[in-house]
Amino acid sequence: MHIEVTGLNKHFGQFHAVKDVSFTIEKGHLIGLLGPSGGGKTSILRMLAGLESPDAGDILFHGRRVNDLPPQERGIGFVFQNYALFKHMTVYDNIAFGLKIKKQSKEQIRNRVMELVELTGLKGFEQRYPHQLSGGQRQRVAFARALAPEPQLLLLDEPFAAIDAKIRQELRSWLRDLIERVGITSIFVTHDQDEAIEVADEIMIISQGRVEQKGTPWDIYKQPQTPFVASFIGESSIVENIHELRGFENASDWLNTKALIRPEYIEIGQLYEFPIASATEKGRIKHIHFRGSEWMVEVEVRGNTLITYRSLEKEVLHPGDDIVVLVHRAYLFNDHDSWIMENR
Ligand code: ATP
Repeated sequence: MHIEVTGLNKHFGQFHAVKDVSFTIEKGHLIGLLGPSGGGKTSILRMLAGLESPDAGDILFHGRRVNDLPPQERGIGFVFQNYALFKHMTVYDNIAFGLKIKKQSKEQIRNRVMELVELTGLKGFEQRYPHQLSGGQRQRVAFARALAPEPQLLLLDEPFAAIDAKIRQELRSWLRDLIERVGITSIFVTHDQDEAIEVADEIMIISQGRVEQKGTPWDIYKQPQTPFVASFIGESSIVENIHELRGFENASDWLNTKALIRPEYIEIGQLYEFPIASATEKGRIKHIHFRGSEWMVEVEVRGNTLITYRSLEKEVLHPGDDIVVLVHRAYLFNDHDSWIMENR
């Protein structure tokens, strides 16, 4: 289903929770709504579902305005973190539920349930009850139940939030695969950037009721348009006085400029192996944190500016070492615009 949303607004009392939100979603795409808690993601999803009505704005499904359609007539499937399965029903009956409401024949229901059991990897579990399943299996039943009536839009609100990290990881690629096979337009709410990057075709970053940026995960990562996006997606150090860094003197031409530097755009070296040149800075290693597969090295330059470098080896670096730093690229932002600046 092709989705078009324009000028969506929602207040709760005095509080303006969703502010002029507009976007489109291509048929068959999986969109991740990503942002901090309280930003308005769930409110947007609930308005699409018809569980909440907007104060202003239009919601179009396939070009048809659905603002006044009740949820059950919108052709939507839901999987919510707390949208529990029916505890007293077997897996089979849970999946069959929406089909019985549609008054399908026993034979039709059986065929569709078996198809979904196959699709979601639940074959052999049909007669179990929810309490006899793991958290991951239960969520797969929830997906099968949501997909059974052949909805045209699937809304997922933190569907894996209550699941252990390891299983959650498996479910992400499982979901990606499932959505590709079914080919259904889907919207996925999460506050976990890794989850959004891994699962979604496109990400919409939502903060304080607004869309900060929409694009493919890679576009957003390499070309963040606001400081919020740059610090929310991937890692970066904020540098207030970028024009004082060698190679970035031109940044002083822009007033009120803030800069962010990603760890992969800096290089460091020992004084003897990396001679001071016009584009390099002297620095000192302040802290080193172990991260499992890598070391995050905090480097102090120009007095009190800290920038983070990522290293795969620690033995060669020590806090207090004097080093040379080369910053290749910075993201610059002022109130209106963003640029990528390369070291001259
Ligand atoms: P989370 O990740 O925590 O679910 P979210 O981005 O989905 O956050 P929403 O749940 O949409 O955010 O909430 C946006 C804001 O609107 C929050 O400040 C929330 O407290 C407020 N809000 C949501 N629903 C209501 C309601 N029914 N009545 C009053 N305020 C509400």
